Amino acid sequence: MNNPSFSAASLIPRLQKAAGRTLQSVIVRNAQIDGYVTPEIAISLAQDLDAAAQSLLHEEISGNESLCLEANILNDRFCDVLAAICSSRGGYVYPYISGIGYDGSERSYGSLHSCGAALFVTDTKQSIFAHYGRRLWLCARCGMAGESPLAIPLPVISITHNKAQIEYHGGSFSSISVAVVIEPVGCFHAQVLLRARVDAIQISKGIELDINRDLLVRGLSVIAVAMSFDCDFLVARQQIRPNRD
Ligand SMILES: [Zn+2]
Repeated sequence: MNNPSFSAASLIPRLQKAAGRTLQSVIVRNAQIDGYVTPEIAISLAQDLDAAAQSLLHEEISGNESLCLEANILNDRFCDVLAAICSSRGGYVYPYISGIGYDGSERSYGSLHSCGAALFVTDTKQSIFAHYGRRLWLCARCGMAGESPLAIPLPVISITHNKAQIEYHGGSFSSISVAVVIEPVGCFHAQVLLRARVDAIQISKGIELDINRDLLVRGLSVIAVAMSFDCDFLVARQQIRPNRD
């Protein structure tokens, strides 16, 4: 049902969600062009994401349980695309959406990356979306450390022996679609450690995943964590250093 009488307070979150869905659609279409997703999957998903963005702008959907379920399914489908990207080219998603305008000036984040090195951020300025921005995360050790909506933190990634623990405390979502991937390098193929929808409470306590020991002795590897939630998404990256003990 059309509802032209949104209050200003409720409009901005809807604009932000619509912008998130629009960027997801852009990523899906680019992933198809690069051959990471088949046209059959990409075209249908991009159309559904576009339709979701339109709905957010024109229809009253808050509190509608079935539409929340649809949103979760859309997040699952989009997270599959993020997993395919991370498995093919690593977690470098930001070039697909860099046109929204990063200003390029980094500043210290004020706390360390979860690898222990210095962390810097740069935020979108002069975005094509008036009420929406994104943040690029850069680590002195890992390089590109992530890409997220503004004011949304990265997950904490802890590597101990042959285990990775993923912990997340951002946002007020009930569930998150998550993909955890060891990125490909050279002739080493990617390994998907996790692809699932997880309860937000569960991931706030930490999810532990096994890492193949072979990965830990072959040199530096990178673990990528992709998350899709609440019409939006993030990707985080962190180096896995070989065991030294
Ligand atoms: Zn780092």
